[in-house]
Order: sequence, then structure tokens, then C-alpha cells
Amino acid sequence: MRPFLIAANWKMHKSPRDTRDYFTTILPKFEACGVAKDPSFRKIIFFVPALDLQAAADSLKGTHIGWGAQNAHWETKGAFTGENSPAVLAELATPYVLVGHSERRALFGETDEQTGLKVKALHSVGITPLLCVGESLEEREAGRTNEVIVRQLNAGLSQRDATKRVIIAYEPVWAIGTGKVATPEQANDAHAVLRKALAAFGQAVADATPILYGGSVKPDNSAEIAKQPEIDGFLVGGASLETDSFLALCQTPKDRS
Ligand code: PEP
Repeated sequence: MRPFLIAANWKMHKSPRDTRDYFTTILPKFEACGVAKDPSFRKIIFFVPALDLQAAADSLKGTHIGWGAQNAHWETKGAFTGENSPAVLAELATPYVLVGHSERRALFGETDEQTGLKVKALHSVGITPLLCVGESLEEREAGRTNEVIVRQLNAGLSQRDATKRVIIAYEPVWAIGTGKVATPEQANDAHAVLRKALAAFGQAVADATPILYGGSVKPDNSAEIAKQPEIDGFLVGGASLETDSFLALCQTPKDRS
């Protein structure tokens, strides 16, 4: 059984001090409601700005909650001003890194080929990549959703280490930070397409790989989305920044029977 996985993407929000304050507030609440106590059933991960990684690691030490960076380069060192080295992330014991977030693709020119190199580099240092895929509004309206997301998936996984895990997030670009959420059926259909494409890497990969939905998930729409059978969790931007809304999302019911 795949765990239900709820991941926060803080983007470029919060300082190390904010990070410590956030966890000081939310950890006792997680403890009280028990959502973070069994990671084989429900797993929570925070993707924080690189400058907050140490604060997150210190705060989350000894819990079952994961943390990760929002980007990494594919080389371990070199003349890449401003980039995060996968080797250094590994030295900092970073368990997860986002790859191919639509903001990285649209604003920083990250290509399909680069996502494949990044997944390879992260696997080589023992970090689990969370690969984001998703179509733009124009692509959806042109009926190209499935072609685009399968292309992004295949490129992202093309150089992976087959013995290592990946996590996938389906994030329609038109739903990110816009308040427009995909209907539960639209999301489920895209997830089913991705699951089928994952089977080309082996049925065991398709069965074991969590596929998260991301795009304006909020406490008032999460329960309906989570009812869809192919949806294994959420990647959450805006609603992860406040502890109350993120705590509510982490308590979204999911029937795994
Ligand atoms: C995201 O940035 O990955 C995201 C899904 O953002 P939001 O929840 O704000 O749409």
C-alpha cells in the first residue's frame, strides 16, 4: 500500500527563524492529532528554501516528518553560481528534492532534459526526487494534456537509478497559485494516465510510486480530491504557509481499503 503523502512547498517564503517558529507551533499539534506518527500510512514532507534546510533539519530531527530542497543542480560542483549541489544537500542529510516544478520550468528555463539529469544526480547521492509534471492551459485546451505529462514523466525518469524511489506530482500549471483547482475527475484521469506510463518502467514501479496532486489544494477542497482512487496525496503551496490550514490538510481523510 502506498502511504498518503502530503507535501508542503514553501517556495521563497520564510526565514530560518520563521521555520523554527512554524515547527514549534505545528509539531505539538501533529503530535496531538497523531497524523505524523506512522509514515507507512501517512507521510508529511516540507520543501523549504535552501537557506532554511538546516533549521528544518534541526526542528524535525527525531520525528517521522521529512524535509527537502526545492531545486538542485545536476553537477556536484563547478561554476554554477547560485545553484545547490546534490552532494552538499546529501551531506546536509536532505532526504528529498523537488525537480521540474512549473515555476522552475517557466521562470528559470528548466528543460525536460535537465529534469532527467537532476533525477540521476539526486539518485546518485541517495536523495529521493519529487518530479513535478503538468500541462499549461493552452496545452489542455488543445487536448494535449496526456501527451505533455507523459513526455515530462518519461524525460524526468529517463536516467533514473531503477533501484531507487521517485515521487511524482501532477500539477496542472493553470491551477497553481490561481485558486482554480482541477476537478477531482480531471485530476484522477491525469493520474491514471501517469500510472499507466509508469508501468512501462515495470508494474512494481507503477504500484509503488506515489502520485500527488498539486494546484490550489485547500482545506475546503482536499477531501473531495482525496476520494479519487489514483490520488496518493497533495503538493501544497499557498495553504502550507499557515500552520492551521496545513494541519487541516494533513488530516484529510483517505480511504485505503
Ligand atoms: C505548488 O507550488 O506546487 C502549488 C501547488 O501551489 P498552490 O497550492 O499555491 O497552488
